[in-house]
Amino acid sequence: MKKSYLLSPGPTPVPERVLLAMAQPVIHHRTPQFSKIFGEAAEKLKGLFHTKNDVIILSSSGTGAMESAVTNCFTKGEKVLVINAGKFGERWGKIAEAFDLKVTWMNVVWGETASPAEVKAALDADPEIKGVLMQATESSTTVKLPVKEIAEITKGRDVLLVVDGITGVGVFDVPMDDWGVDILICGSQKAMMLPPGLAFIALNDRAWARADKAKNTNFYFNLKRERKNLKDKTTAFTPAVSLVYGLREALLMMEEETYPKVFERHAVLGRAVRAGTAALGLKPVTKHFSEAMTGVFLPEEVNGKKFVKSLRDDFGVTFAGGQDSWEGKIIRIAHLGYFTEFDMIIAMSSIEMALDKFGVKIKFGSGVAAAQEILRDRFEVK
Ligand SMILES: *Cc1c(COP(=O)(O)O)cnc(C)c1O
Repeated sequence: MKKSYLLSPGPTPVPERVLLAMAQPVIHHRTPQFSKIFGEAAEKLKGLFHTKNDVIILSSSGTGAMESAVTNCFTKGEKVLVINAGKFGERWGKIAEAFDLKVTWMNVVWGETASPAEVKAALDADPEIKGVLMQATESSTTVKLPVKEIAEITKGRDVLLVVDGITGVGVFDVPMDDWGVDILICGSQKAMMLPPGLAFIALNDRAWARADKAKNTNFYFNLKRERKNLKDKTTAFTPAVSLVYGLREALLMMEEETYPKVFERHAVLGRAVRAGTAALGLKPVTKHFSEAMTGVFLPEEVNGKKFVKSLRDDFGVTFAGGQDSWEGKIIRIAHLGYFTEFDMIIAMSSIEMALDKFGVKIKFGSGVAAAQEILRDRFEVK
């Protein structure tokens, strides 16, 4: 028998409570019974997004919400600045180009974070830029980007700040109203402790005003239509009913833990993983780590693709490897969503075992011990 552990940055593990909520019989979506659940989930999402704006629930993966931001709030030929700090920043640019926006690329070296001063300079240099598209966490590099600082710059201009918070919202605080983020996006399978299949998007008044003016190039992802439906606690099309049951339960769990404690947990788990991997001599991929996940370079002699595959197939522990120029070179350890202290011990001990099998000289327990030194403060004996 082999027990499997999912330690990838998405999908992430789903709590038993959420699985059981989703196991309820499917009911019809045009009923008061479903509307009650849907309405409660939508209301709770406002707490997660820290906003008074409506949070629209879409049945799609996270990219669907990204696409909806582009097609609802921008018109063909308009200019946007894309912060491209990795695979997901690149995705913003590809979506914008697919809908014939003009993209100004701000390319950030992998492992580095974006510079607010450079964003300001780019906007000063080109008043035609109508939006800045960025990530809260660039998951391909495990880097955290300065959303708050960039919002300070966009706030006073006719420039929409569109934030893909798919590995940010629910990991650390992204208070969209306080910071002046115009559009904030989240997906179900990362920090939200849900299976893949739902995406969430909130627009502030500025963004809705743009949506009123923009020439829509969409049908399914029509946010104005969804907002109208949301007022009646329903959706334009058939929603992913079972996932909505799960959503309400997952949000309830986060409320019970309280958001400050959810964010603190992610931060501490991240520190433990960084201490553990440092003790094993694994070099961090960045100085700007997100609380969502940690990426480290594997020793040169290790074939990273084989290493991650072996951890999955031989040890039963699934991590993510690297993409593009980092393919085969790094491992990404997730600590967002339904993870607690001992999941990080599994992460450290399994990496130690695999390093040993791959011929790297390490001292068993050194990564685990370094993580434990950080995690010990999380427990109190009553
Ligand atoms: C996972 C992820 C997405 C969305 O990917 P989907 O596969 O469409 O859910 C987008 N942005 C970031 C930063 C992500 O980590």
